[in-house]
Amino acid sequence: MSDLKSSKPDKKAAGVNAAPALGIDALKELALNLHWSWNHMADPLWEALDSYLWHSTQNPWVILQTVSDDRVKVLLGTPEFQERLSDLLQHKRKFFSADAWFQKTHPKISLTTIAYFSMEFMLTEALPIYSGGLGNVAGDQMKAASDLGVPVVGVGLLWGQGYFRQDFDADGNQRALYPVNDPGQMPVQPLRRANGEWLRIQIQLPGAMIWLRCWQVLAGRTKLFLLDANDFANSAAHRGITSELYGGDAEMRLKQEIVLGIGGWRLLRELGLSPEVCHLNEGHAAFAVLERARYYMADHRVSLDVALTITRAGNLFTTHTAVPAGFDRFAPELCWKYLGHYAKDELAISMEELLSLGRQNPADASEPFNMAYLALRGSGQVSGVSKLHGEVSRQIFQPLFPRWPQAEVPVGSVTNGIHVPTWDSAEADALWTRACGPDRWRGDRPLADSVRGLTGGELWRMRTSARKTMLAEVRHRYARQLSAKGGPHIDIAELFKEDVLTIGFARRFATYKRPDLLLHDPDRLIRLLTDSRRPVQLILAGKAHPEDIPGQELIKRWNDFIERPEVRSHVVFLSDYDMQMAQELVKGMDLWINTPRRPWEACGTSGMKVLANGGLNISELDGWWAEAYTPEIGWAIGDGKEHGEDPAWDASEVESLYTLLEQQVVPEFYDRDEQGMPARWLDRVRESMATLTPEFSASRAIREYTNDHYLPAAAGYKSRSANDGKLGVNILQWQRRLADHWQTLAFGTVTAETRDGQHWFYIPVVSGGLRPDEFRVELYAAPTEESGDKPEIMAVCKSSADSSGILIYSVCCLAKRPVEDYTARLIPSHPEAFVPLETGQIIWQR
Ligand SMILES: *Cc1c(COP(=O)(O)O)cnc(C)c1O
Repeated sequence: MSDLKSSKPDKKAAGVNAAPALGIDALKELALNLHWSWNHMADPLWEALDSYLWHSTQNPWVILQTVSDDRVKVLLGTPEFQERLSDLLQHKRKFFSADAWFQKTHPKISLTTIAYFSMEFMLTEALPIYSGGLGNVAGDQMKAASDLGVPVVGVGLLWGQGYFRQDFDADGNQRALYPVNDPGQMPVQPLRRANGEWLRIQIQLPGAMIWLRCWQVLAGRTKLFLLDANDFANSAAHRGITSELYGGDAEMRLKQEIVLGIGGWRLLRELGLSPEVCHLNEGHAAFAVLERARYYMADHRVSLDVALTITRAGNLFTTHTAVPAGFDRFAPELCWKYLGHYAKDELAISMEELLSLGRQNPADASEPFNMAYLALRGSGQVSGVSKLHGEVSRQIFQPLFPRWPQAEVPVGSVTNGIHVPTWDSAEADALWTRACGPDRWRGDRPLADSVRGLTGGELWRMRTSARKTMLAEVRHRYARQLSAKGGPHIDIAELFKEDVLTIGFARRFATYKRPDLLLHDPDRLIRLLTDSRRPVQLILAGKAHPEDIPGQELIKRWNDFIERPEVRSHVVFLSDYDMQMAQELVKGMDLWINTPRRPWEACGTSGMKVLANGGLNISELDGWWAEAYTPEIGWAIGDGKEHGEDPAWDASEVESLYTLLEQQVVPEFYDRDEQGMPARWLDRVRESMATLTPEFSASRAIREYTNDHYLPAAAGYKSRSANDGKLGVNILQWQRRLADHWQTLAFGTVTAETRDGQHWFYIPVVSGGLRPDEFRVELYAAPTEESGDKPEIMAVCKSSADSSGILIYSVCCLAKRPVEDYTARLIPSHPEAFVPLETGQIIWQR
């Protein structure tokens, strides 16, 4: 939330009267920009138009589609409404055209477009085209890009049904529901060419050319383009391609990914956009790499190899999964069916060549096609979504870089963050504004010290009020849920108490998240909840994929547990966890629990939403919490190591979770000073807001992506493509020479001597068919306990060539470690190439 108070600049009455009255188009302009999903200045307008619809849908576009002309006319006829509307429009137009962080920080950079591809975007519940975390990251990053003025455009799919919706049957089993997303009710507009024609993209699928309708969504300054196959000119089978998100079989998924990657890049080009940077949010959209190269081929009349080498520098791949099974893989036969024609007629390569881009072993004709491999091979930069996930990803992608040390597998990380204005409560927003000013998320000013100035009283009032608001919303939801379910009802007024420690657990019910950890000892949990002096209340929510039976069983276990009479007023399980519910919950929760099995939570974001609101986290040391946790700001379970699915280890974590709750969390919450406030608890709240919220904000994430990834990617693409692609061609030729001659490279007999406290190494190298500037010699020592976690790597210089043409390299280093720790190696070298990402050869002395 931000800028709750609408500014009322004093305006001369004459000036207002002179302006022509604003009509319905002004309202449409506001309703079609999702800025209202994080800036609440316009809320009173929507509420005035239809209070019930506003509260139940939070969707201004639905309101405009629904209310009568008379209602709109009456309101437009009132001076206050007119004035408010006019203020808002002016504010919006001025605000979105003014220079922001990006323009101010990088005034000389000509970076026009970063295309951000994602299978899902979670921007608002009014546009339900997401499933969970991945869409959350995409939506929050789009909004932060708008705040910061970073020229991102999103590319995604307009899902006809989206992800399934959930309710429970009378026995507490999950039921999957598929209501339809009516584009007429969503804040999207057909994307039209200048002549008014609806932009539709064509793609060849087996047996048919299909049409994809294009849509536009505005989110502040940023635009999101969506493709949709539900065109009446398509056959019934094809119209369903963009219907269910993460539904259907592998064949359906492949079609969806062709539409997203290939169709998505075509859409951008049809609009006249030529993005310098392409950011793949997960591997689903990896075909965009091929389509980008195809356009480059056609524009510049070069081969696919050259085009890929040049465009690669401008592509960035963010991987999100912590297990290899999380990658999309397609059977070769399926790829032949759907991409055979594309390879031959459009890319002018053989299907084997295309398949080899998605294989670990290009020679293995039975190996499935891995989208993450294609994304990695097509990108100049690869990153995970937290520091730990970066490490895990280096391990996962290690097989693509045989004989390279894991630490040097070219995968970095940018830890995710949340778009704070989307997730903070009105109360928290007011505190943030008071402490840090209105522009706090739109720049790079440090905020921690300003937050530390907030008093315990301010924080506690904010917490108490937000908890109260949340509990009212939860009661309201639960009442509806119970009456829909039928059966015995509880008295909703009895449900929850306003001053009781309230704990939340809401997330996808997948077994690796261990949502049943708290349930391991139901009696102990009941004692915790129902303690008469220091009670606890618990709010749960979450969906399990319709095919995830074990996940659904975990939901059922909780639903059985909450039937017990003694816990009924202390625990609820809300059905149909979605963005709107998440927004309500994270604002009021005192404590958020997260119990994934390390290291399977790549990052996790819901805990970040909580801390922006002054809630605290108790979590497994996994994902973002592994880098965020310190004892002053929250609680951790686990020992920071991996233990697989060992039940004994689960049991020990259960024990530590209960013990922490019983001995630290609950006592600290109820330990009150003379003013009735939990002083130590509030110290944690203050510290966690001050240090963690800025760090784990999407504002920081987008600035990091921009400075460390987007700008270098744009520069790399520009230099490779300049002068008719001279550098790109040069890199490709170098790669070919490496491929042809690498095996002629060899070490002679390396000698070492130690004198005056230094090791001297003499390294003869037979350079065979390669020039000395095409490879380099390095001295390497693996990390040890004492030397820290980084290997020692030293460049070795050529000192001479002996008479037989053998090159002699020499280097010396302090003799701090035994000489046997060191070994020499040969790796490819080019000042502008990504090694080993683009070429993974390596020769070890031993
Ligand atoms: C934030 C959010 C998520 C992701 O939360 P995790 O912590 O990554 O599990 C999923 N779904 C919804 C609706 C969310 O708001």
